[in-house]
Amino acid sequence: MPATIIDGKAFAAKVRAQVADHVTRLKDAHGITPGLAVVLVGEDPASQVYVRSKGKQTVEVGMKSVEHKLDAETSEADLLAVIDQLNNDPEIHGILVQLPLPKHLDEDLVINSIAPEKDVDGFHISNVGLLGTGQKSMVPCTPLGCLMMLRDHHGSISGMDAVVIGRSNIVGKPMAQLLLGDSCTVTIAHSRTKDLAELVRRADIVVAAVGRPQMVPGDWIKPGATVIDVGINRLDAPERGEGKTRLVGDVDYDSCAAVAGAITPVPGGVGPMTIACLLANTVTACCRANGLDEPEGLTA
Ligand code: NAP
Repeated sequence: MPATIIDGKAFAAKVRAQVADHVTRLKDAHGITPGLAVVLVGEDPASQVYVRSKGKQTVEVGMKSVEHKLDAETSEADLLAVIDQLNNDPEIHGILVQLPLPKHLDEDLVINSIAPEKDVDGFHISNVGLLGTGQKSMVPCTPLGCLMMLRDHHGSISGMDAVVIGRSNIVGKPMAQLLLGDSCTVTIAHSRTKDLAELVRRADIVVAAVGRPQMVPGDWIKPGATVIDVGINRLDAPERGEGKTRLVGDVDYDSCAAVAGAITPVPGGVGPMTIACLLANTVTACCRANGLDEPEGLTA
């Protein structure tokens, strides 16, 4: 039987609608508009596209969107001053500093200067610690999106064997924490893992966050397993015309879909969920800042 395709695009639209609904309620009942500030340093083209898309979707769900575009040569002191101003702005509930930062800026220092309760990316050391100890935190958007799709597809994932391939701070590690939080038995694999194929073959849930195009073949997948493909890799696609490219994930979609029970496509799987979860985190942060009930189902 062919795998169920987990439609991240449709799911993200549902999450955005839930966020928009909650924003309306916050405005009507409390006169509060959630605000998200995005800080971009430099002119990295991919980052500019992400920031534009984030700003557009923020406005579409009725929230206030603020963008700070800083010169690539901005000093650390000037960047920290912008963050300090946003930390103290009562109309801003979420702050995101677009990564990567230019080399002369200390990424850890910058991220850890964001007020943890406004850290909607969930990368501040306090939020990492809170997530690791099972306490209420801001949860990184991409793994949160993966968790939402897994919960939606399975109901409960308690007791399932999960393998996360990749141990980055932004995807692999928080993903593993979230799966553990939902009572999966979790293995984290990385570039030094021995016999990755055998590990993956035992998994009921495989999350691939590696950054290597189509690395996971279908014969690594346990029949019926759920495959969540976080990877976004651009390949040349001369068959589409000169200079054209196409996006592929970290799993070989066709061979994995032939064996898996469910799979996320690339594009249209995890990707759209990431910004939707950023909006969800901003509403959650706004509710927490105002001592109001959080929307249900929009956080871990
Ligand atoms: P990263 O920081 O480069 O981490 C990659 C991880 O993969 C590392 O832990 C690395 O192991 C591991 N790895 C590399 N080669 C491996 C191999 N042969 N076998 C097993 N593990 C291997 O990447 P990331 O930031 O987590 O991103 C991963 C992918 O997700 C990328 O394609 C990225 O574009 C995509 N992504 C997508 C979204 C989205 O919104 N959909 C968001 C973020 C990232 P070591 O630690 O041992 O080096």
